[in-house]
Parts: sequence; structure tokens; C-alpha cells
Amino acid sequence: MNAQANVGNDPLRVLLVGATNTDAELTVEFLESTQTDFSAMVRASTLDEAKLHAHDGKLNIVLLDISSMQTVTGDALDALQSLIAELPLVVLGEEHQSRAAKTLLEQGAQDFLIKGDFNSRTLERAINYAIHRKQSESRFRHLAQYDVLTGLANRTLFEERLDRAIRRAKRHGTGLAVMYLDLDRFKRINDSLDHHADAALYLAKNNRRSTYRFNTQALDASEIAKMGRQRELERAISSDDLHLVYQPKIGLRDGSVAGAEALVRWRLSNGDVRYPADFIPAAESSGLIVQLGERVMHDACVQARVWDAKAPEGWRVAVNVSGRQLETDSFVETLDAILVDTGLKPERLEIELTESALVADPDSARELLSALRARDIAVSIDDFGTGYCSLSYLRNFPVDTLKIDQSFVQGANDAVNLSIVRAIVDLARALELGVVAEGVETAEQMYTMQLLGADVVQGYLLGRSDAAQHLELTH
Ligand code: C2E
Ligand code: MG
Ligand code: MG
Repeated sequence: MNAQANVGNDPLRVLLVGATNTDAELTVEFLESTQTDFSAMVRASTLDEAKLHAHDGKLNIVLLDISSMQTVTGDALDALQSLIAELPLVVLGEEHQSRAAKTLLEQGAQDFLIKGDFNSRTLERAINYAIHRKQSESRFRHLAQYDVLTGLANRTLFEERLDRAIRRAKRHGTGLAVMYLDLDRFKRINDSLDHHADAALYLAKNNRRSTYRFNTQALDASEIAKMGRQRELERAISSDDLHLVYQPKIGLRDGSVAGAEALVRWRLSNGDVRYPADFIPAAESSGLIVQLGERVMHDACVQARVWDAKAPEGWRVAVNVSGRQLETDSFVETLDAILVDTGLKPERLEIELTESALVADPDSARELLSALRARDIAVSIDDFGTGYCSLSYLRNFPVDTLKIDQSFVQGANDAVNLSIVRAIVDLARALELGVVAEGVETAEQMYTMQLLGADVVQGYLLGRSDAAQHLELTH
């Protein structure tokens, strides 16, 4: 682009618009007597004509004489704008035309010289400044209107051009068509090319606070693939791709529905469903489980609020909470905010924690459990019997229910498993806790659990997890 030309090295080629022959001769005389290497002058009588010259790429400044011009409107304005977009422009005019000149300066002209008031030196200086100013302006303009990574025109430039095209079409009473093209899987391509430094930042963030990572080749393919999956999950968390299904819990005493457990599902774009075993461990190690858990808690509370009016007393929605969520200082605070936001009564909520979540930091766990108890939120220990929960801890933890892990329930025809179930039920009785048997798949397993004294059963026999609208609140 000519505006990029350096007047110091480049011979000066001037486009003079609208001047009389006498003024043109005088201007040439001025330019010839300057230090600048003046090489040529091209003349145009109208802005439209000037526009054609400007496009040929050989000029580096426009001098626009407005002495004999009326107001610039319509096509002439268009021509002026495209001139200004391409080249630095200095306005020449009479003293009384300063208002018109000001309008042109607002359009992007660089300077205004009053005819008769400048000499060859001041003209030379005005031209040099105009060219320099235009150069830096072009650099800024480029930054603002083009994508740094691809060099393609960005939305700002598109909108500006579209706006201009619409105005032109209106003026000429013609139509305008906008073609909207979409590239298949562009988002994926864009994301996968999304700079390696970004990857390092992501890794550093995932390794908790106050750390740094260099962006090196060592961020190998598997690491990048892993991050790709994390990003997918991150996106799913804030979209409808992540949703909850509910599995009923049935009271063994009277067959009533005691509540439902919310289980998270991830629907992929091809329609497949991902199960928690596939993404919860990665979400835990990356820390995304905190966001995921918040989303799950919120959705489950919204749903429980919908069920609230029809559900029997004591009926609760259970939400699985990972140990990593408890480690954040704000777990209870966030929970309170969700309850306020959704309007759900805390006595409609139950939280399922695993033993490992409790034993990692028993003191904080006890504090947290007390906070939940104070709000009348129930707590059950999930997959009980598979972790390392010390029995003495259990005594001091304010929990409500033990959920016997499904491996013991499904293996209850084996004598050892049977005694484990019996031991858990005995323990629960001693500690005055409720007992849920999970993973009940056969009638036999259900009777065994009933015989051994479990209060509640949950499993495929009694109902698979399903969308909220299919859940029956009573039996
Ligand atoms: P969990 O909390 O012990 O949930 C019970 C799991 O057993 C569920 O698997 C459920 O679908 C499955 N199940 C229920 N009845 C039967 C049965 O009769 N037979 C068999 N074989 N399986 C049964 P799911 O939904 O795949 O969840 C697996 C685990 O992922 C859950 O185990 C829970 O620990 C975790 N999880 C699920 N949703 C969330 C969540 O929102 N947040 C967190 N942190 N963890 C979750
Ligand atoms: Mg559970
Ligand atoms: Mg379980």
C-alpha cells in the first residue's frame, strides 16, 4: 500500500484533485523547489476520477483542493472515503472553508492548508507529516481490523464494509445480498491450532495455584489430547450436553419412594452418552470437578424444587459430591447460594460422599458435615465398605446414612459378602444411621437386603436412572 511508503526514500508522486490549472502549476513549482524527491503529479477533476487513480498503487499522497467544491455527499463521499482509506490526504482550500475542511478531517484527512497561506516548505512539511501519520494510522487500523493469527479481516472490518455496502445500496435503490458461509468443524480446527503457550498456561492452572509451566515440545501429543478432552468437558459443563438423570430409592418397609439420586451424563454431539466413570476421574484430577459439581448441584436443586410440591415428606434428591469439591473453601457458601437461588428447602437435599472424601482431612470434614447438619441437609456415605473409613471417625462424623457398595450387594450369595453386609447393617444400627443397599439387580438380592435389615434399596431391579420427567415420586 502506498501509504506505507517512506517519503524519505521514495520519490514523491502526488495526486492533485479539483485544482485549477494555475493552482496546479503553482503546486508543482512548490514541490520542485523542496528537498523531497518530487517525481510526478497526476491530476483528477472529481473525487470519482481520483478514486480510480488511487487504486493503481503508484501514488503516495492526495492533495484535495476544495475551493470549487460543493458539499461532499453520496457517491463523492464514498469515493472520498475509499481515497482516505488508501492514501494520506491533505485538504487545500480558502480560509472561509475551514468548516468544510473540518468535516473532511473528521473523515480521516490528515491536514488542512489555506491557499495563499503556505509556501513550498510548509507544503513539504505537511505532506511529510501526513504520510508518516498515515503510516502509523494504517498500522493501528490493521491491528484493529485484521485477525493477528490468520491475517484475515475481522468482524470490525466486516461490519464497516457491510455498513458501507448497505448505505450504497440504499442510495442507489439496489438490493444487497449477504452470503453466510460456515466451515465444517471450523471450531475444532481453530481450537486445535489454538497456540501451544495456551496449553502450558492450562497445565499450570490445573496444577493448582502459584506455579508456572514452560511451553515446550515436551507438552507431547498425549498431554495435548488430554487437554483437548478437558476443554470439551469445560464446554459441556456450560452447555446442555451435560445433564442429569435420576434413579429412584425405594423404602423397603412400605415400598414408598424415598428419594432419587442425581447422576450426571454427558451427551456427545454424535448422540452417544458418556458415563461418569469415563470423565469424573479426569475432572477430579484436572480440578474441573469443582465447576462440574456446582453445575450438577444447581440443576439437581432446580429439579428438586419442581418436585417439592408433589413429593412426600422426607423425600430427598441426592447429589454426589467429590472430595475435591470439599477441599475448596467455598463449598458451603456455594451450596447456600444455590439453595437461595433455586428456592429449594435444604431438607429436600442429600449429599453423597465417599469415605476417601472424609478421611483426607477428617477435621475439616467434620466441620463441613456439621455445617450441613445445621442446615438439615442429609449426608450419606457412598460405596461404603470399599474405602478406609476408620470406625472411630464414623462415630464422630455427623452423617445420616451408609450406602452399602453394590459389590457386596451383588455378591450377597457369597458367605463373606453376606457377613460384610450384616456387619455394616449392625454398625449402622449401633450408630443410628440409615442403610441403603445400592446396585440391587435381582429379587433375591432385594429379599436378602430386606432380611438383613436394610432400609432402602436402589438398583436396576427397582428403576434405572432416567430423565427427570419419567421419575415417579410415589409408588
Ligand atoms: P454412585 O454414586 O455409587 O452411583 C451409582 C452407580 O451405579 C450409578 O452409575 C448407577 O447408574 C449405577 N447403578 C445403579 N443401579 C445399578 C444396578 O442395579 N446395577 C449396576 N451394575 N449399576 C447400578 P453411574 O451413573 O455410571 O455413576 C457412577 C459413579 O459416578 C457414581 O457412583 C458416582 O460416584 C459418580 N457420579 C455420578 N454422577 C456424579 C456427579 O454428578 N458428581 C460426582 N462427583 N460424581 C458422580
Ligand atoms: Mg452415589
Ligand atoms: Mg455408590
